[in-house]
Amino acid sequence: MPRYDLHCHSTWSDGLCTPAAVVERAAARGVDVLALTDHDELGGLPEARAAAAERGITLVNGAEISVSWETHTIHVVALRVDPGHPGLADGLAAVRRGRSERARRIGDALAAVGIRGAYEGAMKYVTSERLVSRTHFARFLVEAGYVGEVKDVFKRYLARGKPGYVAHQWTTLADAVSWIRAAGGQAVLAHPGRYPLSPTAMRRLLGEFREQGGDAVEVLSSSHTAAQADEYATHARRFGLAASAGSDWHGPGESWLDLGALPALPAGVEPVWERW
Ligand code: AMP
Ligand code: MN
Ligand code: MN
Ligand code: MN
Repeated sequence: MPRYDLHCHSTWSDGLCTPAAVVERAAARGVDVLALTDHDELGGLPEARAAAAERGITLVNGAEISVSWETHTIHVVALRVDPGHPGLADGLAAVRRGRSERARRIGDALAAVGIRGAYEGAMKYVTSERLVSRTHFARFLVEAGYVGEVKDVFKRYLARGKPGYVAHQWTTLADAVSWIRAAGGQAVLAHPGRYPLSPTAMRRLLGEFREQGGDAVEVLSSSHTAAQADEYATHARRFGLAASAGSDWHGPGESWLDLGALPALPAGVEPVWERW
């Protein structure tokens, strides 16, 4: 059985390694099929593709699209898209543009609680001028000594309800799914266990996602416990969705799971790659 990892990040978004270095590490760790899924960005794919060809592994064209659904931010992973499709490329460019202005507002919100220079500090960690994320603020806040670890920054400063959080309108679920499908790809609901949704709201999300043309649920993720993997496997079966698997790796020392370090999918689900 080939080893799949269908969710990870490079310096084109908030990862710490270049696309080539991500591919190199994935290959060294025994990954056979890797999807690079930078936030709202396809720019790292050519470099990743070349590196994958050199290492003899398969690179899947991916991205992770930021979506506003009801009052929540959710992520939709795109797999096997045509990166040259204009509808997808234009849509992602529009999503990225909103990030720069949001970053200014995050800086202002942090200044209001006495943290100065956060915007400039975050920009020092930005590795693609097209893509600034909360992760870059998190790295600055750790460096500046406000918190010990990146994950605690979110709890104290950057998660919803915390002083550095600013509301932001991403794209709609319908648009994200339709861009992906128009570009010939599959839409995967990323790490559903991370969304603070009631059971009813989760079923509503899964139902809408399916109705709009969604293909799969990310069942295996570094954000999920084993119990959550089983729970989302059950949801996937009930909603007629396939199952995906991705580490969501961002860099050495920053992620819970390394590239390729995923268990087998729970029994009874259809792996998303069986539809390829
Ligand atoms: P953004 O898309 O700019 O809102 O940033 C979201 C990114 O922040 C995610 O893709 C993760 O990389 C990171 N992130 C969000 N929540 C957490 C958390 N609790 N711990 C660590 N990283 C997080
Ligand atoms: Mn990220
Ligand atoms: Mn995500
Ligand atoms: Mn991700």
